[in-house]
Amino acid sequence: MTGAAAERREELVAVYRTASECTLCPLAETRTKVVFGAGDADADLMFIGEAPGAEEDRRGLPFVGRAGGLLNELLAEIGLDRDSVFIANTLMCRPPGNRDPQPDELDSCRPYLLDKVRLIEPKVIATLGNFATKLITGDQTGITKVRGRPQTHRLGERTVRVFPILHPAAALRTPRLRETMSEDFATLGRLLAEPAPEQEPAADGPSPATSEAQAAPPGQAAPEASDPPEARVPRAGDDQLDIFAP
Ligand code: URA
Repeated sequence: MTGAAAERREELVAVYRTASECTLCPLAETRTKVVFGAGDADADLMFIGEAPGAEEDRRGLPFVGRAGGLLNELLAEIGLDRDSVFIANTLMCRPPGNRDPQPDELDSCRPYLLDKVRLIEPKVIATLGNFATKLITGDQTGITKVRGRPQTHRLGERTVRVFPILHPAAALRTPRLRETMSEDFATLGRLLAEPAPEQEPAADGPSPATSEAQAAPPGQAAPEASDPPEARVPRAGDDQLDIFAP
């Protein structure tokens, strides 16, 4: 890992620590664990899903329920696994009863999400389903119309390829969509092989997802100076969510 990547990773761990105690929206009162996201802190590919479900809330890890099982299968089809990508959600806390994310909740979580994009520097962001796709592209067109076609967006400081895909839960509900998902993952694999988009100098106006893009996660205390340098972000399959290496 380069020095720059190690620095980004350390800063990501600091964001993780802040996020773990977040009380910016009412979901803080009903969640069990904050689901920050998990995987490679220097991944080329980042997934953004909707919000944690019951199993994710219990374990503090994204996509560990049935939809996560399908995501794992689809990743395997293109020669990837969870540890080589980073998986996050539009919301880090479970909405009660798995109801839809609310605008105030999305607003509260957005700076954390943009910090993840800034620090991980993914080449491609695959948005899973309507909520993530609309949040990241700023376009309210439904996922079935925009899926499978790459877009380019500026998110905070980064220019990234954005690739909308159906949410795996949709294919669990409607099995004929499984084939469509395989096709889109094949396209995603090809997209990852392309060169990264050129990074532009800071633009004047914010892009749709970046209205609060530059804001640091508000509120909480900075990490202690005594924190060990080997701090890490949680990885897929990691039940031990203490961020310090065991
Ligand atoms: N699990 C997640 O972490 N996110 C989703 O969107 C669905 C299941």
